[in-house]
Amino acid sequence: MKVWLDGHLVDKQHAVVPVYDHGLLYGDGVFEGIRVYNGRVLKLKTHLDRLEASAKAIHLTLHYTIREIEKAVRDTVAANGMKDAYIRLVVTRGAGPLGLSPFTCPKPSTIVIVDRIQLYPPEMYEQGMPVIVAKRPRIPIECLDPSIKSLNYLNNILAKVEAIEAGVHEAVMLNTDGEVAECTGDNIFFIRGGRIVTPPVSAGILNGVTRLFVMNEIAPACGVPVEERSMRLEDLFTADEVFLTGTAAEIIGVSSIDGEQIGEGRVGPITRRLVAEFKSRVAENAPEN
Ligand code: PMP
Repeated sequence: MKVWLDGHLVDKQHAVVPVYDHGLLYGDGVFEGIRVYNGRVLKLKTHLDRLEASAKAIHLTLHYTIREIEKAVRDTVAANGMKDAYIRLVVTRGAGPLGLSPFTCPKPSTIVIVDRIQLYPPEMYEQGMPVIVAKRPRIPIECLDPSIKSLNYLNNILAKVEAIEAGVHEAVMLNTDGEVAECTGDNIFFIRGGRIVTPPVSAGILNGVTRLFVMNEIAPACGVPVEERSMRLEDLFTADEVFLTGTAAEIIGVSSIDGEQIGEGRVGPITRRLVAEFKSRVAENAPEN
């Protein structure tokens, strides 16, 4: 496996960053998770735009242009000869002296990993996935905006531990106002009366690329209206269907929350249509824009 590291394709075992990298020391950096379907990089432009916005939000000046990073992504996919893959694009703050100041680190490290990722067991796509509600709220926007895809994932990791301890794979996270925000690594939607609802970015969420794909392309193609509005747990418990979206997860139906059945307790009919539409759009000619 070849990893792209600061301009060079190197073997996986030689792809290392210095221990003084502030990405390691402080979780200071940004990243993207991207998918390749049949040789096409799904929504690459949207991912690169988000990377650029995340970097700007943490005062990180990218060392490479977006064009150069795009080429690095494509070169790494080609070098690994994979037609279907998961890409992890990471920009760390780079090495510098100990101490929080990001401005002492002269050069960020840019990394492109191409690999496989399998998040949820295949049968859960058929039967639906049980989830819980995390006790830990999503970090508020004014502390660290969740729309920044930063290397600081401990808020999500600790909520994920709650899920794992409850024997499930994912947890719904509320914001500090008690509204539904998102899951630890996925966005959330509910369906009632044939309409899809999802929290707005102002609820304190990552503006998922899959979320936008579903809202702007998949749902309209299925003739299902989508609305962004703040939602509470009651909305989920009284929904006809609930589903999650993410680059690795794609679209997955939720069967229960905290042990309470959602809808019929299986993947609902509208979710199934969305999944079918998603699959057909990525199968041959996945949109890169
Ligand atoms: N929310 C969080 C917290 C995430 O980490 C992710 C990505 N794994 C998502 C939502 C989904 O975003 P995307 O569709 O861009 O993968």
